[in-house]
Amino acid sequence: MDLELVTIGTELLLGHTVDSNAADLSRALTAVGARVVRTSTVGDDHDAIVATVRDALARAGFVVTTGGLGPTRDDITKGAVAAIYKVPMVRDEAYERLLEERWQALRRPGAMPESNRTQALLPRGAERLSNPRGTAPGLWLEGAPGTVVMLPGVPEEARGLVAEEVVPRLARQLSDTAVVTRSYVLRTAGIGESALADRLDGVEQTLAPVTLAYLPTLDGVDLRFTVWGVAANRADAMLSEAIGLVRPTLGDHCYGADGADLAGEVLHLLEQKRLRLAVAESCTGGLIGARLTAVAGASVAFVGGVVAYDDAVKRVQLGVGEELLATHGAVSEAVVTAMAHGVCDRFGVEAGLAVSGVAGPGGGTDDKPVGTVCLAARVGAQNRVVTLRVLGDRYQIRARAVQGALFLLRRTIGVL
Ligand code: ATP
Ligand code: MG
Repeated sequence: MDLELVTIGTELLLGHTVDSNAADLSRALTAVGARVVRTSTVGDDHDAIVATVRDALARAGFVVTTGGLGPTRDDITKGAVAAIYKVPMVRDEAYERLLEERWQALRRPGAMPESNRTQALLPRGAERLSNPRGTAPGLWLEGAPGTVVMLPGVPEEARGLVAEEVVPRLARQLSDTAVVTRSYVLRTAGIGESALADRLDGVEQTLAPVTLAYLPTLDGVDLRFTVWGVAANRADAMLSEAIGLVRPTLGDHCYGADGADLAGEVLHLLEQKRLRLAVAESCTGGLIGARLTAVAGASVAFVGGVVAYDDAVKRVQLGVGEELLATHGAVSEAVVTAMAHGVCDRFGVEAGLAVSGVAGPGGGTDDKPVGTVCLAARVGAQNRVVTLRVLGDRYQIRARAVQGALFLLRRTIGVL
């Protein structure tokens, strides 16, 4: 089935907000076999919304909109759609009661604002789609012009409604034999795009008709497997088969599927092995700690760290020898090894991770150019140390150093 998207919001036209809803919705709807044939964007303007949605309906017969469902004056999508379908706006009393109850539960002083009450005004005939993440429900309206599904603009609300309400309804309309395009991502770290391509050289040709895309990110290289235009009931089997062929050749470079976070994986491994971790960071200035503590429950394994930016801090807080610093320099394998050792010792933990590097743009030398990053991991009696040469600006170099360090630690835990 064909459908069109209409994203609504003046902020999208002004460029203040990037239209992520169009991309999110296209992916989710394509995955179940719908064909998104056009995406349009309009401002919060009644006539423009009426014209755009009406034209889209005339072409495709099925339109999904996002934005303009809230309680504020610029939220006019419902009224515009009601005008296209020539239906009045009617008060949904059950929904109004629900809004009242939610207001009471908040225990705010005073009565519920009138503007909230306008949310219970819906085009006659529209079915409410439950939106547990916000107050404006999604709306599904069928009639002579076709079907319109109206979703809120807030990206996580729109995504949730598509997954929980729209896709299940569409799936009933699309039979098992409908063709779908579906993808699956494997995330890798610690290996570059070309080295990865070399490894996969043998298997890559055997994957057809599944296609493989290399997507380099600051976290490493993601591998996206896609099946195009096959029956829904075969798509998942074809993807699993392709993944089964590739996965073994990736070894420990692969740390998960779409959405996996290396920091989360490392914490999980540490917890499993009952190890506690401390970090000693020079050029990353706390970014490793930030990545780890962004994961809920990090405290089961992560205890803390030292931002050892100045050599004096490396000496005093971590016990790195003065002669080591003088002989090898702060960006050296000898010094990061001593930092990892020192942080384990001072924090009384089994695992330590240390980073020192040249993040640039200045400070590079012939033998230690900008992007030189030394990493050391210590887990019990196991020590690993590497020197990376990473590319990018200061932001990218530091982000890659963090990911490299997490990868080294995971590898070091893995050999126990
Ligand atoms: P609310 O109830 O929050 O008012 P709404 O349905 O009225 O929701 P809007 O007011 O249009 O939605 O937008 C709410 C928020 O979602 C804004 O911060 C806006 O920038 C963001 N947003 C709206 N449309 C999109 C889009 N297409 N892509 C990404 N973000 C969007
Ligand atoms: Mg709004």
